[in-house]
Amino acid sequence: MRSHHNNTFFDWNPWHGCSKISPGCAHCYVYRQDKMYGSTKSSIKASLNKDFSLPIQRRRDKSWKIPPGAMIMTCFTSDFLLEEADRWREEAWEIMRTRNDCTFYFFTKRIGRLPSVLPSDWGDGYDNVIIGCTAENQEMADMRLPIFIDLPIKHRSIVLAPLLGPVEIEKYLDHGIEEVSAGGESGADARICDYDWILDIRRQCMAHDIPFRFHQTGARFMKDGRLYMIKRSLQHAQAAKAGINYRIGEDMKPF
Ligand code: SF4
Repeated sequence: MRSHHNNTFFDWNPWHGCSKISPGCAHCYVYRQDKMYGSTKSSIKASLNKDFSLPIQRRRDKSWKIPPGAMIMTCFTSDFLLEEADRWREEAWEIMRTRNDCTFYFFTKRIGRLPSVLPSDWGDGYDNVIIGCTAENQEMADMRLPIFIDLPIKHRSIVLAPLLGPVEIEKYLDHGIEEVSAGGESGADARICDYDWILDIRRQCMAHDIPFRFHQTGARFMKDGRLYMIKRSLQHAQAAKAGINYRIGEDMKPF
């Protein structure tokens, strides 16, 4: 799905802050960044970032700061479909329309909100927007994925992270899913991710010929019944080392 971008990646975080809505949120990195890790708070008031307009900012020579063809990783310090951001999202869609020479990728735990917040010209989706639906366990997968596969979206991926148990998703895969990504949880209190769960998701993807990515091990990684503690700086590299990605191009940045 990513052949149309030129292998340059930019982060765009139009707003910051979120509220916890499901088990995968327990140790959310948005909170960690705020040094609130371990706090019992269940929400950080969403606020606009000063770089809200980043994708449409130009240099002095009038060229775009973010070059044409870039992949713009969108809203990774919040959830793009967060209720509190409803008042800003119309303008964010507008930015995506303006930069239709770039690809925007956001993922969400609030996919059920999408129909009510789409822009009027969305149609069956913008060509340059990839939406990832995240699920951390079977319950969330069975709650969110049936909704996800029925929505008008041009490019969809499933993100199984932080993976908290085995997940069976085969029945959702033949519905325009372009990629499945799975990974463990980071942080001091991370829950265990078992390699067998990862391998089983890969097996399901291969059976349906859907690209699969193992994007990070997480901090507590179980393999063959043995628990490994993996440093944050190595979690992506260790996953890559496993060499189990399936049909994934070299050009995609793991998140
Ligand atoms: S929805 Fe995402 S960003 Fe929001 S609290 Fe949960 S994990 Fe964090």
